[in-house]
Amino acid sequence: MHKGSCLCGAVTFEVDGELSAPDACHCSKCRKHSGHYFASTDVPKDRLTVHGAENVRWYQSSEKVRRGFCATCGSSLFWDPPQRDWIAVAMGAFDTATRTRLRMHIFVADKGDYYDITDGLPQNAQ
Ligand SMILES: [Zn+2]
Repeated sequence: MHKGSCLCGAVTFEVDGELSAPDACHCSKCRKHSGHYFASTDVPKDRLTVHGAENVRWYQSSEKVRRGFCATCGSSLFWDPPQRDWIAVAMGAFDTATRTRLRMHIFVADKGDYYDITDGLPQNAQ
C-alpha cells in the first residue's frame, strides 16, 4: 500500500499495489500546474482510494483532462482523464516509499529554459 497526501493533509490517498514507473511531463500546462514539471504515475482507478475527496478541486485543463488539487493548500495531486479507467497521481504527493523509478520525459519540446535533463532517460519531444 502506498500512501500520499497534500501539503495540509485535508486530502490523503492510498494506492493498492505496485506503482508503475512514472513519467515526467514538461508541457506548459504541467509546468504551470506543478510549478516546475509534473512527474506522475498512472494508477487504475479501482486501486486508488481518496480520503477527503470533497477537498479536491478540479480544473478542466483541456477537453478530456481535469487536474485535481487541494482546495486549501493548492497541492497538485491528480491528472484525470474522466472517461478512462486510470488516473495519474503526482509523485511528489507520496509520503511512503514509491519503490519505482522515473521512466521517461515527455513534452520536452516545451520544457523551461532554466534546467537541463541530464539523467539519461528517454526524452520525447511530445
Ligand atoms: Zn491540502
